[in-house]
Amino acid sequence: MFKKNTTSLFLASAVFVVSCIVYVYIFLISARDEVRRLNAWVDHSKIVISQVYITMTEQEAVLADQRGYLLTGDSRFLTQFKNNQDDLLISVRKLVELTNDNPEQNRKADEIHDFSLQYVSYLTERKDAYKDMHRSYDQTQLDRFISGLDTVDLLHERLSSLIFSFLEKENLLLKERISAANEKRAEYGQNMVLSLFGACALIMLMNWVLFQEQKKFFLDSERLRNIDDRHKLAIKAVNDGIFDWDIGNKTIFLSSQIFKMCGYDKNDYDGPLIGLAAYMDGLNLLDLIHPDDITAFKQNLDHFVNGLTSEYTNIFRVKHANGYWIWVCARGGGIFGSAGKPIKLIGSHSDITAQKQMEERLKKEMEEAEGSSKAKMEFLAHMSHEIRTPLTTVSGIAEILERQSNKFDEKQNSLIKTLITSTTTLKDLINDVLDFSRIDSGEITLEKNKIQLDTLLAEVVSIMSVQAIEKNIEFKADHSNIAHLVFEGDQIRLRQILINLVGNAIKFTEKGGVSILSKLDCFVPENASAVLSIKVIDTGIGISPLYHEIIFDKFKQVDDTISKRFGGTGLGLPISRSLAQMMGGALTVDSKVGEGSTFALEIPIKILNPDEVVENRILEKRRYAGHIEANLKSLKPDDDQKVLMVEDYEGNVVVIGYILDEFGIKYDVARNGIEALDKFKNDRYKVILMDLQMPKMDGLTATLKIRELEKQLNLPLTPIIGMTAHATFKDKNNCIESGMNDFISKPIDQSNLLNSLMKYLKEAS
Ligand code: ADP
Repeated sequence: MFKKNTTSLFLASAVFVVSCIVYVYIFLISARDEVRRLNAWVDHSKIVISQVYITMTEQEAVLADQRGYLLTGDSRFLTQFKNNQDDLLISVRKLVELTNDNPEQNRKADEIHDFSLQYVSYLTERKDAYKDMHRSYDQTQLDRFISGLDTVDLLHERLSSLIFSFLEKENLLLKERISAANEKRAEYGQNMVLSLFGACALIMLMNWVLFQEQKKFFLDSERLRNIDDRHKLAIKAVNDGIFDWDIGNKTIFLSSQIFKMCGYDKNDYDGPLIGLAAYMDGLNLLDLIHPDDITAFKQNLDHFVNGLTSEYTNIFRVKHANGYWIWVCARGGGIFGSAGKPIKLIGSHSDITAQKQMEERLKKEMEEAEGSSKAKMEFLAHMSHEIRTPLTTVSGIAEILERQSNKFDEKQNSLIKTLITSTTTLKDLINDVLDFSRIDSGEITLEKNKIQLDTLLAEVVSIMSVQAIEKNIEFKADHSNIAHLVFEGDQIRLRQILINLVGNAIKFTEKGGVSILSKLDCFVPENASAVLSIKVIDTGIGISPLYHEIIFDKFKQVDDTISKRFGGTGLGLPISRSLAQMMGGALTVDSKVGEGSTFALEIPIKILNPDEVVENRILEKRRYAGHIEANLKSLKPDDDQKVLMVEDYEGNVVVIGYILDEFGIKYDVARNGIEALDKFKNDRYKVILMDLQMPKMDGLTATLKIRELEKQLNLPLTPIIGMTAHATFKDKNNCIESGMNDFISKPIDQSNLLNSLMKYLKEAS
């Protein structure tokens, strides 16, 4: 991987550097061409200038030849005159040609050409006119000749000035071109040097990057070598064999440990799968797998190869070279191809024979332990039965003796009482121990009986009330809401739980009382299901929160003094909770030290008379309302019994007013706290119904003000019932703190309202 990274980095750097060089090369070539082009222009100007000088020479030569001929008559001058005349015109035409690319100079060259023609023709004309002048002296002819010299000079001068002007311009051009070429050359040189520097810097940078990568690669390789060494050491240390199967290429690597594990002294194998048998001297490794394990082995391997499992695990037996079987655990993971199927499986073989033997041993031991526990259980059951039989006789005799107490003296009677208590305790203990062992070993199965709640509770009450009466505490069962409930369950076990809970409640209560409160929760009439909730509430010593869970552990009591003072085994609650759980329910406790405890049993039940339950609940509600109604009517409200309703919402005023009317309770309405205060100052009310949220002055403020007034005027406290829509704990708290006596939640429930009203009207009457 590291190598791959370095190669791609090298390629990327090389591409970058080559691109830079190509770019610089193109840039330099174009600059060089530009320099060449500018040099060519310089050369061109030089050629033009030298042509100008040739023209000037020819101009002078033509004039000199003409004069030489006219003064000497030597025909050689004439020949030269003609030749130089042609040369002058040729030279001027060349100038015209050379300046074709420069319109301004070209126009001047044209002018030079035209003027040269005039110049040449005038000289030719004079040559012909005065060709015999040298032979004889003729003053007139001489004068004419001399006077014509001015014209010659003029033409010569004019032509010269044209040529000079042309030359001047060309010199200027040459200067400009030379400086442009020089500038370009300097720029080219500079760029060349910069490019060279840039190229060197780039190459150095590339080398540096490559060097760093190479360094990292070497470090990584070193690290990998170390890891590899560590792995090898670790593998050697754990004695595991390593395999690396290239599924696609059908090659495999097997470390020597894999062979050693099976008792074969072989080195690592790394080659085609097909060559493995030859390497093992004709032995097929698959043939070494236990016949009972081979199918599962192949199946697990197939699942992995076909991508059905992402991890490979196989546990199988392999025949050791010495003939015995060893247990091997193969584990591995795959390298997956793009199709999601593994292309490689790499993993390890561990010899787990010792572990397997240990498991076998443990299993055997466990079976033996279970067997012995069962035997103990049977022994315990047998023993307890055996003990119970004579014990029953002993307790029977004790009861007979107790019934004949008048025949014995006080001391003897006290002995008989102790005998009865001890036999009862012993019987309870034996029953508990037996029960617990049965539950522990899962031997208890629950029955499905038809249970009549009335009967069940009546039984419990009748059994337990003796103890309650003895202790002079109150004991009652309230299940009016669900009287006549018939449901399916294990009657004996349910009674056992209740007797245990009630027994404890009575045992730990010195004053106050014990009550059993039953109700139905989550009642679904359609499928006759519900949760039966039975609470055993006492006003006894209570239990510290620290022990709320501990008391459900076997043989646990809150502290030693308890067992000393109250007796008991610490098995009742664990048995009860286990039974409740077996019924699919729960047994929980809520208790405060010094205030009492509530044990809540909740079990899901199937109701066998759902219609009756529904009807009963309706009847019960009606009965309750009727009871309130009767109570309210018995109050015989008179003019004095007036209620103040403080409520801003018209809907509530109508509803509450309707209820009050129905029961003949007189009332006034105040729409906010201020109105309520006014009315309170001017009238006397037995109860105030106070809404909390109102405009102008809310219910809490109004209550505070009423309480202040009562204090100032030394009036008795008027019961104030708050009416709150939220009914959160905080709201309720606020109500009480502001001085209210009670609260009811909105929307107003008729029975709640009447119940509260009844309570305070009764107190007031
Ligand atoms: P036992 O009553 O035979 O000791 P239990 O398992 O029934 O065993 O109760 C365990 C302990 O829980 C009791 O010893 C007592 O400390 C505490 N306990 C149970 N019920 C009550 C209760 N109603 N009030 C106070 N403590 C209780």
